[in-house]
Amino acid sequence: MRADILVLPGDGIGPEVTAAAVTVLRTIAERRGHEFTFTERLIGGAAIDATGEPLPADTLAAAKKADAVLLGAVGGPKWSDPQAKVRPEQGLLAIRKALGLFANLRPVQPHPVAFSASPIKPHLLQGVDLIVVRELTGGIYFGEKTRTADSASDLCTYSVGEIERVIRHACHLAMTRSRRVTSVDKANVLETSRLWREVASRIVRDEFPEIELENQLVDSMAMHLLARPREYDVIVTENMFGDILTDEASMLAGSLGLLPSASLGEGRVGLYEPIHGSAPDIAGKGIANPYAAILSVALLLRHSLGLDDEANCIEQAVASALAAGNLTADLAGGTSAIGTQAATRAVIDHFP
Ligand code: ATP
Ligand code: MG
Repeated sequence: MRADILVLPGDGIGPEVTAAAVTVLRTIAERRGHEFTFTERLIGGAAIDATGEPLPADTLAAAKKADAVLLGAVGGPKWSDPQAKVRPEQGLLAIRKALGLFANLRPVQPHPVAFSASPIKPHLLQGVDLIVVRELTGGIYFGEKTRTADSASDLCTYSVGEIERVIRHACHLAMTRSRRVTSVDKANVLETSRLWREVASRIVRDEFPEIELENQLVDSMAMHLLARPREYDVIVTENMFGDILTDEASMLAGSLGLLPSASLGEGRVGLYEPIHGSAPDIAGKGIANPYAAILSVALLLRHSLGLDDEANCIEQAVASALAAGNLTADLAGGTSAIGTQAATRAVIDHFP
């Protein structure tokens, strides 16, 4: 198949890990007879330096034309002055909004080599394979904010349509997995959560009768996620709860360097990025862990291009490379570590 992929390296280790991910994509394209073209554009701090804007118009135009967008990371101390008018992170929010990406997917599948790096006991991590679907464009983060001398408020709003589309998204995903969905809310207290629960229950009942839906309160979900993570498959929730639960879920995996993410909308174009930041402390040293960016490419192949086989192949190759002891410094725990390029080669050498 042919596909146009927009690469946004961004800042810090972003260019190093996206280069690794592109190498893997080129290799898989060659081996499976696909024709991928790559376009590179600026975003974040790098874009501010070059153009004064975190999301230049030609970057957005290229994103709208592409089949998928691969992003490194944005931000860093150089642009973190709180007084600054433009900030790198604005580029990311703007591109998500412009592309209508309302569902953020974060799969968590802890690998045994990182069990010791997780604060959770290994016997609880064995066999964990879950995915959190976080609503990305609504809720309290985007509601009206007010401030007086002695009070402040943030408004949380959800429309039926906003809830329906993300619940459907989670259900479609669950149909390709174990057909279990856990919808997380705070319906005992919040009106938006009561609407969320009504809509989730209706969508599953009317449109996905094969799916087993469990409604869970966010406070107990926070507890169960650590106590019995193996029991969950697809977890779907609103923006703020998802923000908190995804960071919590990342601790199951041991290292930030192993976790990919996808941001998806109604259309085919999605944005794929590792969940880690720009890691300015290790930028330019050639030691960044590329596995999360490479696993993001697997999500790109699966969700934007429909190439499930190729996606599985990359995920298996990463698992095998890790199992064979190809560990970057963040995973090696003081024992001998390999760099970004060696880890990338290890993945390619382990393609099934
Ligand atoms: P942001 O605000 O951009 O999310 P952050 O404060 O969460 O950034 P990161 O940039 O993700 O921080 O880095 C947190 C720590 O994890 C740093 O010490 C960084 O070096 C390390 N780290 C992050 N990503 C990687 C990676 N791919 N490989 C190795 N170490 C990493
Ligand atoms: Mg962070």
